[in-house]
Amino acid sequence: MTDFSEFNARYQSDLTDAEFETLAVRAGQVRTPECEHSEAIFPTSSYVFNSAAEAAARFSGDVEGNVYSRYTNPTVRTFEERLAALEAGEACAATASGMAAIYAVCMAHLKTGDHLISSRSVFGSTNVLFEKFLKKFGIEVSYVDLLDINDWKSALQENTKLFFLESPSNPVIEIADIPAIADLAHQNDVLLVVDNCFCTPAIQQPLKLGADLVVHSATKYIDGQGRCVGGAVVGSFELIEPVIGVLRSAGPTMSPFNAWVFTKGLETLSLRMKAHTENALALAQWLEQQPNVTKVNYCGLPSHPQYQLAQQQQSMFGGVLSFEVKGGREGAWKVVDATRMISITANLGDAKTTITHPATTTHGRLTDEERERAGISQGLLRIAVGLEGVADIQKDIAAGLNAL
Ligand SMILES: *Cc1c(COP(=O)(O)O)cnc(C)c1O
Repeated sequence: MTDFSEFNARYQSDLTDAEFETLAVRAGQVRTPECEHSEAIFPTSSYVFNSAAEAAARFSGDVEGNVYSRYTNPTVRTFEERLAALEAGEACAATASGMAAIYAVCMAHLKTGDHLISSRSVFGSTNVLFEKFLKKFGIEVSYVDLLDINDWKSALQENTKLFFLESPSNPVIEIADIPAIADLAHQNDVLLVVDNCFCTPAIQQPLKLGADLVVHSATKYIDGQGRCVGGAVVGSFELIEPVIGVLRSAGPTMSPFNAWVFTKGLETLSLRMKAHTENALALAQWLEQQPNVTKVNYCGLPSHPQYQLAQQQQSMFGGVLSFEVKGGREGAWKVVDATRMISITANLGDAKTTITHPATTTHGRLTDEERERAGISQGLLRIAVGLEGVADIQKDIAAGLNAL
């Protein structure tokens, strides 16, 4: 294998104490002797060896180096090292999607007879994975109220192995007390897994708050411009190693092209999350003043029940909010249909603002009772605030709101 170490010595600055913004731009890059300034892409499925002996040594693992891109790829490794640095984790495993990340964590850290406790308000496909597939292999799953630590406590069983949560939750933006749930987990030899998709490490670093593993859908804010599907798991070497084992055998690893897009996404992550937050806060404050809006859910508003907690564990408030309008489903649909710029889609984490009616899309399969318990009324709309001028976003929403 070409040894680039001497060539790279010029750029081996010590990033141990580097700031987040520095790591986002510099961590993980390995330059080739071609002297490229931007990160190289290695779109190759396999790698060649200089001799039969070298092939044997690399296959056996005696000599480190690439063998096949389902196992390792230099572009993917750059993304993994950069994201690990940003999440303050020892190791990262990139995956084909956010769901592949969650799947790999479950396969690596659960077995038949184990018990998983999840917050009730998790992403729809996460719920399907737990209900339809984990249960098929004899893994028990319980759901609890994200905000109620006693609910987590009373759901504990002898065989509980994993806690899973998202914070802020979708679509009503509840904020979990991550340190408190982590303490409860560790008192009971349970691992805490946090889906950090809504915040990204630019806003919240769950490992520093006590979580054991962080999962990401890189598809959202890490890409930031809606181009690629991907995911990642971050944590200690010890906990990531079995996840890598699952990925290498089962195969849902990240493609080098996607890894390159996500690596470049990380470079602007901090700037983008600031701009998303600024726009979302301005929009939330404006929505609170609108006579046809009955409620606004955004953790950056002092009216939010976990406003203090959000300030403690997040450095910013993020780009996602939801609000209720007068007139129930009919009113909500009118607001959606009156928009001309905002994209009607359930996606989030994009430069383009999106709007969705959770009760009839992302949460349409829940029963009325389940929706009511989750706070998802027929009049609720979720906005993932993009990077357009906020006055234009307001204008687009005002069109429908003012006609109610
Ligand atoms: C989108 C999303 C996922 C799933 O990620 P994919 O990349 O679509 O597989 C998981 N969790 C959350 C919170 C998400 O928003």
